[in-house]
Amino acid sequence: MPGLEDLYREIILDHYRSPRNRGELPPPAHKAEGHNPLCGDEITVFVQLDGDVVSDVKVSGQGCSISQSSASMMSQAIKGKSLDEVRALVHRFKVMMSIEEDADDAAAPTVKLGDLEALQGVVKFPVRIKCATLAWNTLVEALEN
Ligand code: ZN
Repeated sequence: MPGLEDLYREIILDHYRSPRNRGELPPPAHKAEGHNPLCGDEITVFVQLDGDVVSDVKVSGQGCSISQSSASMMSQAIKGKSLDEVRALVHRFKVMMSIEEDADDAAAPTVKLGDLEALQGVVKFPVRIKCATLAWNTLVEALEN
């Protein structure tokens, strides 16, 4: 019977081999490029907003399995969500990665990390945390552009 770590590894590899929402979006989609020089990861995030809702998201780039699978899971998690939900999700993810304090926000109980929980083991490897969070920092930047 496979353990939780095997299950998590399977989820990460599945997203790495079959990345979701791969591609690009034309302007006026929000766009930002992220780079993690420590590992050589590159990610470009495209976000199309329809009012307050993420109506479409695409990700392109290359790098290690952690960075690319995190980007794939992120794209899946934010599609169709409101900006408030996206911000809450970014926060929950950063809490899981131990780079933000739990703000005890009201939205927290409703935020579901889903597949993203597979990345929680990364916390044990501080150097890989930058790989896991690259897509998220790039997403935040894209939404500000
Ligand atoms: Zn990496």
